[in-house]
Amino acid sequence: MLTLEEKRAKRAAYMREYNRRRSQELGASFTTFWRAIHPEAARKHREEEKRRWRADPAVQQRHGEICAWHRRKLKIAAYEAYGGCVCACCGETTEEFLSIDHVNNDGAAHRKMIKGGGDVLYRWLRDQKYPPGFQILCMNCNFGKRINGGVCPHRQQKAATA
Ligand SMILES: [Zn+2]
Ligand SMILES: [Zn+2]
Repeated sequence: MLTLEEKRAKRAAYMREYNRRRSQELGASFTTFWRAIHPEAARKHREEEKRRWRADPAVQQRHGEICAWHRRKLKIAAYEAYGGCVCACCGETTEEFLSIDHVNNDGAAHRKMIKGGGDVLYRWLRDQKYPPGFQILCMNCNFGKRINGGVCPHRQQKAATA
């Protein structure tokens, strides 16, 4: 007398063999045949595979590296278009300190219009073929300009001593 498990295993083996034979008769690979008769399970299986693939830390890391590389390329292209990696006010050249400045101080409205800053802005600038009205400023000058009514304090110091 077979146990329930054994019966199930036997039935599964039979079905496997049956499907394999049937797929051969139809001239399709077993996988194709299996997918055809189990579309729902095949879809789930594919999604599961994809999910597992995406969750793989190595894949994620590689993906992250590619994204970061693309973002940096986009940023550098924008800097190059507006005079290179150098602050237009004080001459700071450390890339990490630099950012795009809206010359006419309409950054907030512009960011709202294009729905974002940073990457969104870099992409927008590229798509608009780097229009005038932007410059490269370091964070200090950018911030100084913002809280000083649109003129970097550096400029005022220069004007005062001149
Ligand atoms: Zn500066
Ligand atoms: Zn400055």
